Amino acid sequence: MESRFNRHSERLAERFGQKVWRLGLDAGFGCPHREGGRGPGGCSFCSPEAGLAAYQHNLPQDLPPLEAQIRRAVQFSRMRYGAQAYFLYFQAYSCTNLPTPSLRRIYDSAITILEGFAPGTLKGLVISTRPDCLDEEKAELLSSYALSGLEVWLELGLQSSNPETLKRVSRGHTVGDYAKAVKIAGRAGLRRAVHVILGLPGEGRAEMLETISFVNYHGIEGIKFHDLRLAKGSSLARQFPAGEFMPMHPARLPALLADCLELLDPRVEVMRLCADFSGDSAVNVFPPPDKNRLYEAVERELAGRGSRQGAHADASAAAQSR
Ligand code: SF4
Repeated sequence: MESRFNRHSERLAERFGQKVWRLGLDAGFGCPHREGGRGPGGCSFCSPEAGLAAYQHNLPQDLPPLEAQIRRAVQFSRMRYGAQAYFLYFQAYSCTNLPTPSLRRIYDSAITILEGFAPGTLKGLVISTRPDCLDEEKAELLSSYALSGLEVWLELGLQSSNPETLKRVSRGHTVGDYAKAVKIAGRAGLRRAVHVILGLPGEGRAEMLETISFVNYHGIEGIKFHDLRLAKGSSLARQFPAGEFMPMHPARLPALLADCLELLDPRVEVMRLCADFSGDSAVNVFPPPDKNRLYEAVERELAGRGSRQGAHADASAAAQSR
């Protein structure tokens, strides 16, 4: 059955003739926002591990960390899914947080390791970072990998287009920083994906839909939706016992996601619909949504409305031009 939204996994399978898997890596970039004193220990929702997959824990000590991670990720994805095609996914923290020559050395090193260990399987790079951690020189570096034939995605954390929300969750950057980064990346010919969190403190449906109109207006090629979870060790999780914040109930997600998708430009590839926390890394006030069931519920919601991604995208464009 054809999906009612533009699934990234399906577009990848069309572009590469097979399913493409991400090898999630922590290449030691750190995060300037956690280390630089621009906020109280980083964003209030950020997990201390910044979200690396569980299979990357307890790596062998006899290999350099990047090589150990790549080998572990390839072995895991081959064994569990029969994976044969990969994106190197620079995932943890802010993966443009070094001078350009150092970035080049790390990206090149990861490419060399994968090509040595699993020749012919590399299809692209995904670089996840903060909007205020990109300049023209870094964008040009990423563009050089695209020119060499790789599919290169830059993932930018925006989370919300509401300036008050960004302050409330201590993001430490502005919506203007995001608009600038997305423009630089677009000029360099990169594929741009945005991270958006649904259910941030102080936000209702109107603010979340406004964020979708905002990202449509500034131009993106991909989007990741996350539902807000209380990561253990985050300042948000510490606020919950004090009763200062109550997370959104996951039962709201299918209708809310359908609303967002109806507004979203139909060309934008949807990379995920909910957050992905392993094991007991979050304080689950409500049972977290089951990913497959959530996808089905969103499809059902859109079908019930006779609708699909982009059905109201014109309304979104009109709202931004006012
Ligand atoms: S969410 Fe990202 S930008 Fe914010 S503190 Fe964590 S790693 Fe840094």
